[in-house]
Amino acid sequence: MLRHTVIAAALLALAWSSLPPLSAEDETTDGPAPPEVPTLPAPRLVGPRLDEARTKALQKGGGNAATERAVTAGLDWLARHVGEDGGWDADGFADQCAEGTACTGIGKGQHGEDMPCPFDDAITAVATLAFLGRGHLPGADDDPHGALVEAALERLRGAGGTWGLALATQCFAEAEALERKGRWQDDAESGARALLGRRQADGAWGYAAPYRPGSDIPFTALAVQALVTARDAGVELPADLAPGVEKFLATLEVKKGRLAYMKEGRRYGYTPTSSNAHCGAAIRHLLGVGLSTPAHRANMSLIAKQKPSWKISFRDVNVPGRGKVPVQIGNLSMYQWWYGTVATFQAGGTSWSGWYGKAKSALVGHQEKRGCATGSWDPKGTYERQTGGRVFATALGVLILEQPYRHRRIER
Ligand SMILES: [Zn+2]
Repeated sequence: MLRHTVIAAALLALAWSSLPPLSAEDETTDGPAPPEVPTLPAPRLVGPRLDEARTKALQKGGGNAATERAVTAGLDWLARHVGEDGGWDADGFADQCAEGTACTGIGKGQHGEDMPCPFDDAITAVATLAFLGRGHLPGADDDPHGALVEAALERLRGAGGTWGLALATQCFAEAEALERKGRWQDDAESGARALLGRRQADGAWGYAAPYRPGSDIPFTALAVQALVTARDAGVELPADLAPGVEKFLATLEVKKGRLAYMKEGRRYGYTPTSSNAHCGAAIRHLLGVGLSTPAHRANMSLIAKQKPSWKISFRDVNVPGRGKVPVQIGNLSMYQWWYGTVATFQAGGTSWSGWYGKAKSALVGHQEKRGCATGSWDPKGTYERQTGGRVFATALGVLILEQPYRHRRIER
């Protein structure tokens, strides 16, 4: 009996060994099934961030060894100040500083209030985008930042809040478009679905919806970036996305090239601003819509006049009910520059070369070169100084310099 069993087992083993190798699908393991590897479309926005293609795109887009050194140093600063949970703490990052030193520039409340910055999810996502922007792939063994990017993406799986959702979705979509292993596709898909579920009847997105009706420019800019990136991760976008958003944009007041925050914004105390003009131009370029409208042309000519320049001064302005309030003069806003960078890169030609030339000298010339702060940027612009602090400023500085390979020009 035993002999028969042994022979049968030997025959079975022989038959088994002559079978073709198991496919990944047939294999049974104790762990969770590996994610299905998706067939993704060729990327339309996520740029050539790896290897020689990156070097070529860098040169073509006006980058050079100095911009690349600045990107490396910026990422190094971010890596030295990441928290143990894999994310960045906008007001607590100095806990990670080298002994005996502490970097300044902590994040604050939404309008500069002295309180812990409530946007750590969003700021962690912006920092993660800075690493992905250079082609640092999550978990890559041969990449010094591989483990950091993996941990940051895991941390973002729990991201909440309005900005957090949109920016984390952009991170997952970029990670999937670059890695193409199916590990982040569900996250990109569910984030995109959640964003589409929050779209309003006017065609766009509102930060305060549903409590205040109507969409606004900053949240729409984040949602559009996330969705256009998600398309590169295989997410299908609704056909009415671009025309619907344009319908909303067309309702906004434009004054001297500046753009309103929302429809009838003055009713809520909002006057048209430069940063909304930069956001609006980026939205139109990413969606390829409204590019010949007078509003867009006015926004783009304002952007051409407000190229990056590292100058800052303040002027006291009388605000009813608040007395004299210092208002920043000049164009130093890395948040605004980020959108100007996205818009002018898509516009191409002298619009891009003129802009990036100024961005390079402003950023490379003002990156910190001493102590623990080496590689970071002082949070001097309104949104960086007031809210996001040094982590936000540094992530934005890196993203702006990476632009030649971070994106590709979207073909229509
Ligand atoms: Zn430090």
